[in-house]
Parts: sequence; structure tokens; C-alpha cells
Amino acid sequence: RMSTISSAINLPTIYALSTPPGQRSAIALIRVTGTQSKYIYHKLTGKEKNPVPRKAMYRNLYMPGSNILLDSTIVLYFKAPHSFTGEDIIELHCHGGRAVTSAILNSIQALNDMENGIDIRYAGPGEFSRRSFQNDKFDLTELESINQLIDSETELQRRCALSSFNGENKVMFQNWRQTLIENMAPLTAIVDFGEEIEIEGMESILNNIKRDVLKLKKEVQSFIERIEKSSILQNGIRISLLGKPNAGKSSLINSLTNNDVSIVSSIPGTTRDSIDAPIDINGYKVIITDTAGLREQSDDIIENLGIERAIEKSKRSDICLFVLEADSSMKIDESLNKLLLSKELQDKKVILVVNKEDLIINKDELRTMIHNLNNEMKNQYPILPISCLNQCGISDLIDLLTKEFKELSDTSDGADPIIMSQRVKDILINDVIFGLNSFIDCLDSDIDIVLATENLNLAIEGIGKITGQVVGIEEVLDVVFANFCVGK
Ligand code: GDP
Repeated sequence: RMSTISSAINLPTIYALSTPPGQRSAIALIRVTGTQSKYIYHKLTGKEKNPVPRKAMYRNLYMPGSNILLDSTIVLYFKAPHSFTGEDIIELHCHGGRAVTSAILNSIQALNDMENGIDIRYAGPGEFSRRSFQNDKFDLTELESINQLIDSETELQRRCALSSFNGENKVMFQNWRQTLIENMAPLTAIVDFGEEIEIEGMESILNNIKRDVLKLKKEVQSFIERIEKSSILQNGIRISLLGKPNAGKSSLINSLTNNDVSIVSSIPGTTRDSIDAPIDINGYKVIITDTAGLREQSDDIIENLGIERAIEKSKRSDICLFVLEADSSMKIDESLNKLLLSKELQDKKVILVVNKEDLIINKDELRTMIHNLNNEMKNQYPILPISCLNQCGISDLIDLLTKEFKELSDTSDGADPIIMSQRVKDILINDVIFGLNSFIDCLDSDIDIVLATENLNLAIEGIGKITGQVVGIEEVLDVVFANFCVGK
């Protein structure tokens, strides 16, 4: 394979802390990969015997050339090529914390001795993965899915990343590329023969190719659609909470976060205590949006006919959750109906909840209320009675929300969503689909076979860039591994 760098001998041995730097922890992991891994093991442990592959070894580490103890560790050795990178790997499971790890890291760096051909340096971002790619251990989509696995915040994200890591998409990409390459062969022959020569059955050859390409284009397109639908899982499903002050919007957020949902660890730019931090509802990442002013209870959208503002809010969300307050005078008035009928809301999922149902002692009265609301509503949306006070109806609401999440992310048929990097998405659109479309145009318009061939090639190279089977791979690799962590 073109991308393979067969002689790893010239590559420096790299090492990195694979666990988060500068943090106090019970254990930290330092990984070393490359030809000098065993050398580093000998120097740090003072042992002359070779390490045993795949066996946990309890070892004291010393500052090289001294008897100054650095730490007591567990060491693992993976012998090339049976390792993640395909090179010799040493893993040092040391105690966590800044002093221990930096003492060991410094000792490793001190072993660098270029004059004697011992080239050791700290790894760059994603450099371990890069080596594993270069040694044919994984293709780029598999490695990117490891990155996505690490970034996963919810159960569903974890599952998607894992299914991609298991190579499902890899096989599909390979098949696509193979189909195109097979169709490329007769085209190249036609080009090589030159256009003067009459080729027997050329028209039917071209028709067959066109049929294959159109079929593939459809597949690629539906794949892109699924990625786009699934991207909502990555970015979070946005819910806007609308309702009069005191209707119980803040209480509802609390109820949702207390019921088997937890605040997802803070992502950059959001803080844990802010209301629009992402929360996890049944494995879905959810962002309750635009709740500024909520606490100040100034959000008097319905009473003040602040419809414009409410529409603005709703526009930016996937689900609009209206919170009404249960009392006998409750009704869906003109302004609320106007809002519910606005064109901005038509492509949104809308749910109404009647909060504080605990205040209505007579449940027949409650049923009548909901029934009346239904009649007043010019558009039919689900209405759920709930109580944030005693949690009544909250689990029904979560069930209903989950059903909507499934539809929004196209996971309702049970198929796992597809999470692909932006890089892959861009290539699919800009190279693959573009190439296939232009190819078909060339055949349809003036049958310019040379140009058609170039376009088909663009699509083939595009798929190659996705998996890593392409010439000029270095620049592709730079893009892929740029946002990897060091130590991965
Ligand atoms: P917001 O202005 O829409 O955010 O409303 P809040 O969540 O701050 O609630 C306003 C008031 O209603 C508070 O005093 C809550 O304790 C009360 N409240 C919220 N939910 C319920 C409920 O289900 N039942 C009852 N009885 N009171 C509630």
C-alpha cells in the first residue's frame, strides 16, 4: 500500500503521557513507541533481561545511571508488530501527579543521544495513531472513531464511535472505491485508444458505467444524509423552554436533570452551573437553549405578546417545550395560538406541558382542562400534565422527548447513527459527490471522456483520502491528526 512507511528504523522513538497532564490521579500512563522502547526499559529499570511481551511486570524505575528511585510501576511491553502502533511499545503505569510523571518523562528525554543514533523525543498530537496508520494497523476512519470515542459524552455517541471503530464504514468505503476503480478501467482504455478509433459497443459500456455510478451516487448521498441527521447527536438537540414567568420552567429543568439525567461534563465555553449546559437525557445530548432571563422571571412572552422573541427563540431549537400553569382559567389564547401556528414552528417538534397538576385536586377537572386545551389549539400538539413538585408525569415527558430525539436523529428504525468527522463529510460532498456529478454531466452533455475520467478520479481519490489509500498522504495525515491528543 502506497502510504506505508516500511522502514520504521529512521523514525524517532516517541513517548508521551497518555493520561491528562498536570492532574492529580491514582495512576498515570506513559507510553513509548519505537525502536528504542526496549532500550528505555533497560535504562529505566536497570534490568538487563529483555521485558516479557504482554505480561504485567512490577518494576522500580530509576533515574538512568543512578540508583535514584523515580517510582514503583507496572510495565507492559508489546513487541512489534503486535502493538497498537506496530512498533515496540513500552507502557509505564506509574503513580499519578505532576512530580512523578515529570520525573519519569525527564528521565526518558535525558536518554536522547542523537550522536549515537538514539533519537528520542516527546510525541506530537496523534503521533501514536499516525504510526499505527503508517504501519497498516488501522485506516483513517477507524482512527478518527477512536478520537470520537474519547470525545463521547453520551451513551449513543459512544455506541456510534465504537461501531465505526469496528470497521463497518471502512468496508463500505473500500467497496465504493473498488466499484469506481473497476469502472475506471474501461474508460482508461477508451481514452488510451484515442477517440478516432471506433470502439465496438462503446455506448453500452458507457451506459453500464453510468448506471453503476448513479447507483453509487445514491448510496453516498443517503450516507451523507444519515451523517447530517446524526450530527445532531454530536452537537446536542436544542430545546427551547417557553412560558410565562412562574409557570415552572426552572423547576422543569431541575426535574429533568434529577430524573436519570445528569449534567454532561462541561464542554468548552459552557459552565456546569449555567442552565444551557448540555444535559444527558436517555443517552441523548440535549441543550436547553437561550434561557437567559429565566431566573429573573422577565420572560413574559405570551402575556406581553412578545411573540417575536418567542419565535426567535424557537427558530434556533429543534424542540419547543411550552410550559403552562394548571389553573381553571388556563386557556390557549390568541397569542399562544398565533405562536403555535407561526411558520417558524411548523418544522419544529412542539410539546405542551401543563405544570403544577398537583394543584388541581379533582383529576376529572384536570382531564377537562386538557381536553379543552386540545380543542382550543388550532394545531394538534401533545399536551402532558406534569408536576415538578411531586415529579408526576416527568417520566412520561422524558419518554415523549426520547421519541422525538429518535426521530430527529434518525435513530427510530433502530439503526445506529453515523458519526463522521467534518473532514470526511467535506470530502464526501466536495470530492466524491462533486466528482460523480461532474462525471455524469460529462457523459450526458458532450461525451468528453477525458474530462469524465478526471472527474471519476476525483471521486476515487476522495474516497482514498477518507480511508488513507492515496498518494500524497502526508497532507491528509496532518489534517486528520491535528486535533488528536498527545499520547494517542
Ligand atoms: P419559572 O419562572 O417559569 O422558571 O418558574 P419557577 O420554576 O421558578 O417556578 C415558579 C414557582 O412555581 C416556584 O415557587 C415553584 O416552586 C412553583 N412550582 C413549580 N413547579 C410546581 C409544581 O409542579 N407544583 C407546584 N405546586 N408548584 C410548582
